[in-house]
Amino acid sequence: MKQLPKEDSKKLDKLMNHLQEAAETFLGYPCNRTFDYSALYPFLGLPINNVGDPFMPSVFGLNTHALEREVLDIFKSYTHAPSDSFWGYITNGGTEGNMYGIFLARELHPDGMVYYSEDTHYSVNKIMRVLHARNIMIKSQSNGEMDYDDLYETVRIHRDVPPIIFANIGTTMKGAVDNLDKIRGIMKRLAIPRYYIHADAALSGMILPFVDHPQPCDFRAGIDSISISGHKMIGSPIPCGVVLAKKGNVERIARSVEYIGTFDTTLTGSRNAVTPLFLWYAFKSTGREGFRNIIAECIENADYAIDKMSHFGIDAWRNYNSITVVFPRPGAALVSKWQLAVQQKIAHIITMPHVTRKQIDRFVAELAADLIDTDHADHKKSNRQ
Ligand SMILES: *Cc1c(COP(=O)(O)O)cnc(C)c1O
Repeated sequence: MKQLPKEDSKKLDKLMNHLQEAAETFLGYPCNRTFDYSALYPFLGLPINNVGDPFMPSVFGLNTHALEREVLDIFKSYTHAPSDSFWGYITNGGTEGNMYGIFLARELHPDGMVYYSEDTHYSVNKIMRVLHARNIMIKSQSNGEMDYDDLYETVRIHRDVPPIIFANIGTTMKGAVDNLDKIRGIMKRLAIPRYYIHADAALSGMILPFVDHPQPCDFRAGIDSISISGHKMIGSPIPCGVVLAKKGNVERIARSVEYIGTFDTTLTGSRNAVTPLFLWYAFKSTGREGFRNIIAECIENADYAIDKMSHFGIDAWRNYNSITVVFPRPGAALVSKWQLAVQQKIAHIITMPHVTRKQIDRFVAELAADLIDTDHADHKKSNRQ
Protein backbone atom coordinates (compact mmCIF):
# COMPACT_ATOMS: atom_id res chain seq x y z
CA MET A 1 0.00 0.00 0.00
CA LYS A 2 1.28 3.47 -0.87
CA GLN A 3 1.68 5.87 2.06
CA LEU A 4 -0.14 9.19 2.08
CA PRO A 5 1.62 12.41 3.14
CA LYS A 6 0.76 13.13 6.77
CA GLU A 7 -1.51 16.12 6.15
CA ASP A 8 -3.54 14.18 3.59
CA SER A 9 -3.91 11.28 5.94
CA LYS A 10 -5.17 13.75 8.58
CA LYS A 11 -7.67 15.09 6.07
CA LEU A 12 -9.13 11.62 5.66
CA ASP A 13 -9.39 11.13 9.42
CA LYS A 14 -11.14 14.48 9.75
CA LEU A 15 -13.62 13.59 7.02
CA MET A 16 -14.32 10.24 8.67
CA ASN A 17 -15.01 11.93 12.02
CA HIS A 18 -17.31 14.41 10.38
CA LEU A 19 -19.25 11.69 8.54
CA GLN A 20 -19.58 9.53 11.64
CA GLU A 21 -20.92 12.47 13.59
CA ALA A 22 -23.39 13.44 10.86
CA ALA A 23 -24.60 9.83 10.67
CA GLU A 24 -25.84 10.14 14.28
CA THR A 25 -28.49 12.71 13.31
CA PHE A 26 -29.53 11.26 9.97
CA LEU A 27 -33.35 11.23 10.04
CA GLY A 28 -34.57 12.95 6.88
CA TYR A 29 -33.32 10.82 4.01
CA PRO A 30 -34.23 7.22 3.29
CA CYS A 31 -30.74 5.74 3.23
CA ASN A 32 -30.37 2.81 5.61
CA ARG A 33 -26.99 2.86 7.35
CA THR A 34 -27.24 -0.52 9.09
CA PHE A 35 -25.14 -2.67 6.80
CA ASP A 36 -21.88 -4.53 7.03
CA TYR A 37 -20.35 -5.62 3.75
CA SER A 38 -16.84 -6.17 5.10
CA ALA A 39 -16.92 -9.80 3.91
CA LEU A 40 -16.97 -8.40 0.37
CA TYR A 41 -14.04 -5.97 0.70
CA PRO A 42 -11.60 -8.29 -1.15
CA PHE A 43 -13.72 -7.77 -4.30
CA LEU A 44 -12.78 -4.08 -4.17
CA GLY A 45 -9.27 -5.13 -5.15
CA LEU A 46 -10.30 -6.34 -8.60
CA PRO A 47 -11.10 -4.32 -11.76
CA ILE A 48 -14.56 -5.86 -12.08
CA ASN A 49 -17.15 -4.30 -14.38
CA ASN A 50 -20.65 -5.45 -15.33
CA VAL A 51 -20.72 -3.75 -18.74
CA GLY A 52 -23.45 -5.07 -21.01
CA ASP A 53 -26.62 -7.07 -20.62
CA PRO A 54 -26.52 -9.24 -17.47
CA PHE A 55 -28.34 -12.05 -19.31
CA MET A 56 -25.98 -12.16 -22.29
CA PRO A 57 -22.49 -13.66 -22.51
CA SER A 58 -19.85 -10.96 -22.61
CA VAL A 59 -16.25 -10.82 -23.79
CA PHE A 60 -15.39 -8.82 -20.69
CA GLY A 61 -15.00 -11.68 -18.24
CA LEU A 62 -14.32 -9.84 -14.98
CA ASN A 63 -17.95 -9.42 -14.09
CA THR A 64 -20.49 -10.46 -11.45
CA HIS A 65 -23.36 -11.05 -13.90
CA ALA A 66 -24.16 -14.45 -12.37
CA LEU A 67 -24.95 -12.96 -8.96
CA GLU A 68 -26.55 -9.90 -10.58
CA ARG A 69 -29.02 -12.34 -12.19
CA GLU A 70 -29.68 -13.91 -8.80
CA VAL A 71 -30.48 -10.47 -7.38
CA LEU A 72 -32.79 -9.77 -10.32
CA ASP A 73 -34.50 -13.07 -9.67
CA ILE A 74 -35.16 -12.07 -6.05
CA PHE A 75 -36.59 -8.71 -7.15
CA LYS A 76 -38.64 -10.62 -9.72
CA SER A 77 -40.31 -12.59 -6.95
CA TYR A 78 -40.85 -9.49 -4.76
CA THR A 79 -42.48 -7.61 -7.64
CA HIS A 80 -44.30 -10.62 -9.15
CA ALA A 81 -42.70 -10.05 -12.54
CA PRO A 82 -43.66 -12.63 -15.18
CA SER A 83 -41.20 -15.39 -14.35
CA ASP A 84 -40.10 -16.45 -17.82
CA SER A 85 -40.46 -13.12 -19.56
CA PHE A 86 -38.91 -10.40 -17.46
CA TRP A 87 -35.70 -8.47 -17.94
CA GLY A 88 -33.73 -6.05 -15.80
CA TYR A 89 -30.39 -4.87 -14.51
CA ILE A 90 -28.76 -3.31 -11.47
CA THR A 91 -28.66 0.45 -11.95
CA ASN A 92 -26.83 3.32 -10.30
CA GLY A 93 -30.00 4.25 -8.43
CA GLY A 94 -33.68 5.04 -8.70
CA THR A 95 -33.20 7.83 -11.21
CA GLU A 96 -31.49 5.60 -13.78
CA GLY A 97 -34.26 3.00 -13.42
CA ASN A 98 -36.89 5.67 -13.98
CA MET A 99 -35.04 6.94 -17.00
CA TYR A 100 -34.82 3.41 -18.37
CA GLY A 101 -38.58 2.86 -17.85
CA ILE A 102 -39.51 6.06 -19.65
CA PHE A 103 -36.91 5.37 -22.37
CA LEU A 104 -38.50 1.99 -23.02
CA ALA A 105 -42.00 3.49 -23.00
CA ARG A 106 -40.98 6.30 -25.34
CA GLU A 107 -39.33 3.83 -27.77
CA LEU A 108 -42.51 1.71 -27.77
CA HIS A 109 -44.78 4.75 -28.10
CA PRO A 110 -42.76 7.51 -29.81
CA ASP A 111 -45.81 9.76 -29.87
CA GLY A 112 -46.77 8.92 -26.28
CA MET A 113 -47.56 11.50 -23.61
CA VAL A 114 -46.04 11.02 -20.16
CA TYR A 115 -48.26 11.86 -17.18
CA TYR A 116 -46.86 12.28 -13.69
CA SER A 117 -48.14 13.97 -10.56
CA GLU A 118 -46.93 17.16 -8.90
CA ASP A 119 -45.49 15.10 -6.05
CA THR A 120 -43.18 13.14 -8.36
CA HIS A 121 -39.42 13.11 -7.64
CA TYR A 122 -37.56 16.17 -8.92
CA SER A 123 -35.44 14.09 -11.30
CA VAL A 124 -38.39 13.22 -13.52
CA ASN A 125 -38.50 16.67 -15.05
CA LYS A 126 -34.87 16.20 -16.09
CA ILE A 127 -35.64 12.73 -17.50
CA MET A 128 -38.37 14.25 -19.69
CA ARG A 129 -35.91 16.82 -21.01
CA VAL A 130 -33.15 14.27 -21.65
CA LEU A 131 -35.54 11.94 -23.47
CA HIS A 132 -37.37 14.76 -25.17
CA ALA A 133 -40.60 13.12 -24.05
CA ARG A 134 -43.88 15.02 -24.28
CA ASN A 135 -45.26 15.26 -20.78
CA ILE A 136 -47.99 16.78 -18.63
CA MET A 137 -47.98 17.25 -14.88
CA ILE A 138 -51.12 16.07 -13.10
CA LYS A 139 -52.41 17.65 -9.89
CA SER A 140 -51.85 15.89 -6.59
CA GLN A 141 -54.19 15.36 -3.70
CA SER A 142 -53.15 16.76 -0.32
CA ASN A 143 -51.80 13.37 0.84
CA GLY A 144 -49.43 13.30 -2.14
CA GLU A 145 -51.43 10.84 -4.26
CA MET A 146 -52.29 11.64 -7.86
CA ASP A 147 -55.57 13.49 -8.46
CA TYR A 148 -57.42 10.90 -10.54
CA ASP A 149 -60.09 13.34 -11.76
CA ASP A 150 -57.36 15.53 -13.19
CA LEU A 151 -55.71 12.48 -14.80
CA TYR A 152 -59.03 11.43 -16.33
CA GLU A 153 -59.74 14.87 -17.77
CA THR A 154 -56.21 15.35 -19.08
CA VAL A 155 -55.95 11.94 -20.75
CA ARG A 156 -59.44 12.44 -22.21
CA ILE A 157 -58.28 15.58 -23.99
CA HIS A 158 -55.24 13.76 -25.42
CA ARG A 159 -56.93 10.49 -26.37
CA ASP A 160 -55.19 10.42 -29.75
CA VAL A 161 -51.76 9.61 -28.22
CA PRO A 162 -50.81 6.61 -26.04
CA PRO A 163 -50.56 7.53 -22.35
CA ILE A 164 -47.33 6.72 -20.51
CA ILE A 165 -48.15 6.81 -16.80
CA PHE A 166 -45.30 7.53 -14.42
CA ALA A 167 -46.83 6.20 -11.19
CA ASN A 168 -45.42 6.89 -7.74
CA ILE A 169 -45.18 3.90 -5.45
CA GLY A 170 -44.20 6.01 -2.45
CA THR A 171 -43.66 9.70 -3.19
CA THR A 172 -40.47 11.32 -1.99
CA MET A 173 -41.95 13.85 0.45
CA LYS A 174 -45.11 12.11 1.71
CA GLY A 175 -44.69 8.42 0.87
CA ALA A 176 -47.97 8.38 -1.07
CA VAL A 177 -48.84 5.50 -3.40
CA ASP A 178 -50.70 6.22 -6.64
CA ASN A 179 -53.63 3.83 -7.04
CA LEU A 180 -52.79 1.58 -10.00
CA ASP A 181 -56.29 0.05 -10.06
CA LYS A 182 -57.83 3.51 -10.42
CA ILE A 183 -55.32 4.45 -13.13
CA ARG A 184 -56.09 1.29 -15.12
CA GLY A 185 -59.80 1.95 -14.54
CA ILE A 186 -59.41 5.38 -16.15
CA MET A 187 -57.73 3.81 -19.21
CA LYS A 188 -60.62 1.38 -19.47
CA ARG A 189 -63.30 4.05 -19.07
CA LEU A 190 -61.69 6.09 -21.83
CA ALA A 191 -61.30 2.97 -24.01
CA ILE A 192 -57.55 3.61 -24.42
CA PRO A 193 -56.16 0.58 -26.29
CA ARG A 194 -52.41 1.18 -25.81
CA TYR A 195 -50.75 2.57 -22.72
CA TYR A 196 -47.67 2.03 -20.56
CA ILE A 197 -47.29 2.21 -16.77
CA HIS A 198 -43.90 2.71 -15.13
CA ALA A 199 -43.72 2.44 -11.34
CA ASP A 200 -41.27 4.60 -9.41
CA ALA A 201 -40.91 2.49 -6.27
CA ALA A 202 -37.59 3.92 -5.07
CA LEU A 203 -38.25 3.38 -1.36
CA SER A 204 -41.63 1.64 -1.08
CA GLY A 205 -40.62 -1.05 -3.57
CA MET A 206 -38.72 -2.54 -0.64
CA ILE A 207 -41.53 -1.89 1.88
CA LEU A 208 -44.75 -3.07 0.26
CA PRO A 209 -43.60 -6.67 -0.52
CA PHE A 210 -43.17 -7.15 3.24
CA VAL A 211 -46.41 -5.76 4.71
CA ASP A 212 -49.66 -7.65 5.32
CA HIS A 213 -51.90 -5.47 3.17
CA PRO A 214 -49.91 -3.79 0.39
CA GLN A 215 -51.50 -1.38 -2.06
CA PRO A 216 -51.42 -2.64 -5.69
CA CYS A 217 -47.82 -1.87 -6.61
CA ASP A 218 -46.28 -4.45 -8.90
CA PHE A 219 -46.62 -6.45 -12.13
CA ARG A 220 -49.86 -8.03 -10.86
CA ALA A 221 -51.34 -4.52 -10.95
CA GLY A 222 -50.54 -4.09 -14.64
CA ILE A 223 -47.27 -2.19 -14.57
CA ASP A 224 -44.81 -2.54 -17.46
CA SER A 225 -41.64 -1.60 -15.58
CA ILE A 226 -40.47 -0.69 -12.09
CA SER A 227 -37.49 1.09 -10.54
CA ILE A 228 -36.36 0.46 -6.96
CA SER A 229 -33.39 2.01 -5.15
CA GLY A 230 -30.87 -0.34 -3.54
CA HIS A 231 -29.15 2.12 -1.23
CA LYS A 232 -32.41 3.22 0.38
CA MET A 233 -34.15 0.43 2.32
CA ILE A 234 -31.54 -2.26 1.71
CA GLY A 235 -28.60 0.05 2.34
CA SER A 236 -25.30 0.43 0.49
CA PRO A 237 -22.30 2.75 0.68
CA ILE A 238 -22.45 2.98 -3.12
CA PRO A 239 -25.73 4.18 -4.65
CA CYS A 240 -27.51 1.48 -6.62
CA GLY A 241 -30.92 0.25 -7.68
CA VAL A 242 -32.75 -2.13 -9.91
CA VAL A 243 -35.01 -1.81 -12.93
CA LEU A 244 -37.30 -4.60 -14.11
CA ALA A 245 -39.31 -4.63 -17.32
CA LYS A 246 -41.22 -7.03 -19.56
CA LYS A 247 -38.79 -8.92 -21.75
CA GLY A 248 -40.97 -8.67 -24.85
CA ASN A 249 -40.88 -4.87 -24.68
CA VAL A 250 -37.11 -4.83 -24.14
CA GLU A 251 -36.53 -7.17 -27.08
CA ARG A 252 -38.57 -4.96 -29.36
CA ILE A 253 -36.19 -2.09 -28.77
CA ALA A 254 -33.00 -4.13 -28.18
CA ARG A 255 -32.84 -5.34 -31.78
CA SER A 256 -32.11 -1.87 -33.00
CA VAL A 257 -29.12 -1.46 -30.67
CA GLU A 258 -27.50 -4.86 -31.09
CA TYR A 259 -23.76 -4.57 -31.72
CA ILE A 260 -20.54 -6.57 -31.54
CA GLY A 261 -22.05 -9.80 -30.27
CA THR A 262 -23.88 -8.47 -27.24
CA PHE A 263 -26.87 -6.30 -26.52
CA ASP A 264 -26.30 -2.75 -25.40
CA THR A 265 -29.56 -2.85 -23.50
CA THR A 266 -28.52 -0.88 -20.41
CA LEU A 267 -28.48 2.91 -20.22
CA THR A 268 -24.92 3.17 -19.01
CA GLY A 269 -21.95 1.38 -20.56
CA SER A 270 -19.59 0.31 -17.80
CA ARG A 271 -21.61 -0.75 -14.80
CA ASN A 272 -20.86 -1.29 -11.14
CA ALA A 273 -19.99 -4.93 -10.43
CA VAL A 274 -19.71 -4.43 -6.66
CA THR A 275 -23.23 -3.19 -5.90
CA PRO A 276 -24.87 -6.40 -7.20
CA LEU A 277 -22.69 -8.23 -4.66
CA PHE A 278 -23.85 -5.90 -1.87
CA LEU A 279 -27.51 -6.49 -2.76
CA TRP A 280 -26.96 -10.24 -3.11
CA TYR A 281 -25.24 -10.31 0.28
CA ALA A 282 -28.05 -8.30 1.90
CA PHE A 283 -30.73 -10.62 0.52
CA LYS A 284 -28.87 -13.80 1.41
CA SER A 285 -27.97 -12.68 4.93
CA THR A 286 -31.27 -11.00 5.84
CA GLY A 287 -33.82 -13.07 3.92
CA ARG A 288 -37.51 -12.41 3.31
CA GLU A 289 -38.46 -13.01 6.94
CA GLY A 290 -35.67 -10.70 8.04
CA PHE A 291 -36.97 -7.90 5.82
CA ARG A 292 -40.53 -8.49 7.10
CA ASN A 293 -39.31 -7.92 10.65
CA ILE A 294 -37.23 -4.88 9.71
CA ILE A 295 -40.13 -3.25 7.84
CA ALA A 296 -42.60 -4.00 10.65
CA GLU A 297 -40.27 -2.27 13.11
CA CYS A 298 -39.82 0.74 10.81
CA ILE A 299 -43.62 1.15 10.62
CA GLU A 300 -43.95 0.82 14.40
CA ASN A 301 -41.28 3.48 14.82
CA ALA A 302 -43.11 5.79 12.40
CA ASP A 303 -46.22 5.47 14.57
CA TYR A 304 -44.10 6.01 17.65
CA ALA A 305 -42.78 9.27 16.18
CA ILE A 306 -46.31 10.40 15.28
CA ASP A 307 -47.56 9.64 18.80
CA LYS A 308 -44.66 11.55 20.34
CA MET A 309 -45.26 14.56 18.10
CA SER A 310 -49.02 14.48 18.73
CA HIS A 311 -48.26 14.51 22.44
CA PHE A 312 -46.62 17.93 21.90
CA GLY A 313 -49.56 19.12 19.80
CA ILE A 314 -47.60 18.81 16.54
CA ASP A 315 -49.73 17.84 13.54
CA ALA A 316 -47.82 14.76 12.33
CA TRP A 317 -49.11 12.10 9.96
CA ARG A 318 -48.11 9.39 7.49
CA ASN A 319 -49.62 7.58 4.54
CA TYR A 320 -50.76 3.96 4.84
CA ASN A 321 -47.79 1.53 4.71
CA SER A 322 -45.37 4.45 4.65
CA ILE A 323 -42.52 5.15 7.08
CA THR A 324 -42.32 8.82 6.06
CA VAL A 325 -43.59 11.01 8.90
CA VAL A 326 -44.76 14.45 7.76
CA PHE A 327 -44.91 17.46 10.09
CA PRO A 328 -44.68 21.28 9.96
CA ARG A 329 -41.34 22.65 8.80
CA PRO A 330 -39.10 23.78 11.67
CA GLY A 331 -36.34 26.41 11.59
CA ALA A 332 -33.17 26.12 9.52
CA ALA A 333 -30.90 25.02 12.38
CA LEU A 334 -32.97 21.95 13.10
CA VAL A 335 -33.35 21.16 9.42
CA SER A 336 -29.60 21.18 9.03
CA LYS A 337 -28.76 19.31 12.24
CA TRP A 338 -31.16 16.43 11.62
CA GLN A 339 -30.75 16.57 7.83
CA LEU A 340 -34.48 16.94 7.29
CA ALA A 341 -35.94 16.98 3.82
CA VAL A 342 -38.20 20.03 3.49
CA GLN A 343 -40.63 21.36 0.92
CA GLN A 344 -42.56 24.57 1.40
CA LYS A 345 -44.38 24.28 4.73
CA ILE A 346 -43.63 20.63 5.46
CA ALA A 347 -40.72 18.51 6.58
CA HIS A 348 -40.35 14.80 7.11
CA ILE A 349 -38.35 12.18 8.88
CA ILE A 350 -38.16 8.63 7.60
CA THR A 351 -37.94 5.92 10.24
CA MET A 352 -35.37 3.83 8.42
CA PRO A 353 -33.87 0.75 10.12
CA HIS A 354 -31.05 2.78 11.72
CA VAL A 355 -33.42 5.28 13.37
CA THR A 356 -33.84 4.49 17.07
CA ARG A 357 -36.59 5.53 19.48
CA LYS A 358 -33.96 7.36 21.51
CA GLN A 359 -33.13 9.49 18.47
CA ILE A 360 -36.83 10.08 17.85
CA ASP A 361 -37.28 11.22 21.48
CA ARG A 362 -34.38 13.64 21.21
CA PHE A 363 -35.52 14.94 17.86
CA VAL A 364 -39.18 15.43 18.85
CA ALA A 365 -38.19 17.33 22.00
CA GLU A 366 -36.05 19.68 19.90
CA LEU A 367 -38.78 19.96 17.26
CA ALA A 368 -41.43 20.87 19.83
CA ALA A 369 -39.19 23.53 21.36
CA ASP A 370 -38.36 24.91 17.94
CA LEU A 371 -41.93 25.09 16.68
CA ILE A 372 -43.03 26.93 19.85
CA ASP A 373 -39.95 29.16 20.00
CA THR A 374 -39.72 30.41 16.48
CA ASP A 375 -43.37 31.19 15.97
CA HIS A 376 -44.12 28.44 13.54
CA ALA A 377 -47.49 28.30 15.24
CA ASP A 378 -49.37 28.90 12.02
CA HIS A 379 -47.71 25.84 10.52
CA LYS A 380 -48.98 23.80 13.41
CA LYS A 381 -52.57 24.31 12.41
CA SER A 382 -52.16 22.54 9.13
CA ASN A 383 -49.32 21.18 7.08
CA ARG A 384 -51.53 19.49 4.57
CA GLN A 385 -51.25 22.36 2.08
C1 LIG B 1 -35.01 8.70 -4.03
C2 LIG B 1 -36.07 8.71 -5.06
C3 LIG B 1 -35.76 8.69 -6.41
C4 LIG B 1 -34.36 8.81 -6.93
O1 LIG B 1 -33.62 7.72 -6.55
P1 LIG B 1 -32.02 7.79 -6.56
O2 LIG B 1 -31.68 6.43 -6.12
O3 LIG B 1 -31.63 8.90 -5.62
O4 LIG B 1 -31.60 8.09 -7.96
C5 LIG B 1 -36.79 8.64 -7.32
N1 LIG B 1 -38.07 8.59 -6.92
C6 LIG B 1 -38.40 8.60 -5.62
C7 LIG B 1 -39.85 8.52 -5.24
C8 LIG B 1 -37.41 8.67 -4.65
O5 LIG B 1 -37.77 8.70 -3.36
